[in-house]
Amino acid sequence: MKAMILEAPGRPLREAEVPRPEPGPGQILLRVTACAVCRTDLHVVDGELPHPRLPLIPGHEIVGTVIAVGVDAAPWKAGDRAGVPWLGGSCGECRFCRAGRENLCDAARFTGYQIDGGYAEYAVADARFCFPIPEGYPDLQAAPLLCAGLIGYRSLVAAGDAERLGLYGFGAAAHIIIQVARHQGRRVFAFTRPGDAGNARFAREMGADWVGDSDRPSPEPLDAAIIFAPVGALVPAALRAVTKGGTVVCAGIHMSDVPSFPYELLWGERVVRSVANLTRRDGVEFLDLAPRVPVRTEVVPYPLARANEALDDLRAGRLRGAAVLVPAGTIPPGAEGRE
Ligand SMILES: [Zn+2]
Ligand SMILES: [Zn+2]
Repeated sequence: MKAMILEAPGRPLREAEVPRPEPGPGQILLRVTACAVCRTDLHVVDGELPHPRLPLIPGHEIVGTVIAVGVDAAPWKAGDRAGVPWLGGSCGECRFCRAGRENLCDAARFTGYQIDGGYAEYAVADARFCFPIPEGYPDLQAAPLLCAGLIGYRSLVAAGDAERLGLYGFGAAAHIIIQVARHQGRRVFAFTRPGDAGNARFAREMGADWVGDSDRPSPEPLDAAIIFAPVGALVPAALRAVTKGGTVVCAGIHMSDVPSFPYELLWGERVVRSVANLTRRDGVEFLDLAPRVPVRTEVVPYPLARANEALDDLRAGRLRGAAVLVPAGTIPPGAEGRE
């Protein structure tokens, strides 16, 4: 099969012909029909996350059709449509797993990091960690739900019942979560990178109640904020914007260093917290909720062989919504990411 391979961090992915994987016990084999590109993929490719499996097939927002099923992989069967998320496995036995916090499992394994992912024509996955894709979502539009949507949703839950919600960084996750937040009756304040007119416009079109540069003060106190951008300097900025008792949620897996800040920004029972990975319960809840909002995703398709361009466009902030890799020849004319 064709796959895009990371041989060493800091180098572009290489298109290669590799053996098609076989499903082992408890695994399903998917023909990949779409794999969204996540900022975490960039952190892996750029070497900001340590010790990836090498060589590695990245990608952890996989949608595909089940074409073979290993023993003990019920109830999956050939022909099913399945989604594969970042959490590829957990031990089920550590204190975190036993407490329903498998996202924090000491022995968790992650798709497209320690397990080969979806930047390929086929992928295998642990059947217990895959999700059925809600009807009504084409594969291309469903792919970003699997991480941008799931992690965004976990972050939104972590933000509590905030009525005035700040979103810092308006990319794949924020464009999904703003739809859920507005559906829940919240007001959304979108903070975009100074000078990034494209994403400011995108935020406005997606229904933000206010849009401004992230180096500007909030027009009114916020009850919570979610930081999607990997920029540590946004932590004190967001703390400054939230009112007493408010929570600042850091949604990404990697961030530049957080600068020091005066204690008064944290005083008043403000909370700074991160969100790590996902639980299967997050997936079930979010994939049940998404069609009822209904969440609509904006996607920019790229042929699999052009994964490096998709990563470059994400790194440079050139995307509107989520980049999604698809098999060669399945992009409608005129819809490609970059000409
Ligand atoms: Zn565990
Ligand atoms: Zn991700």
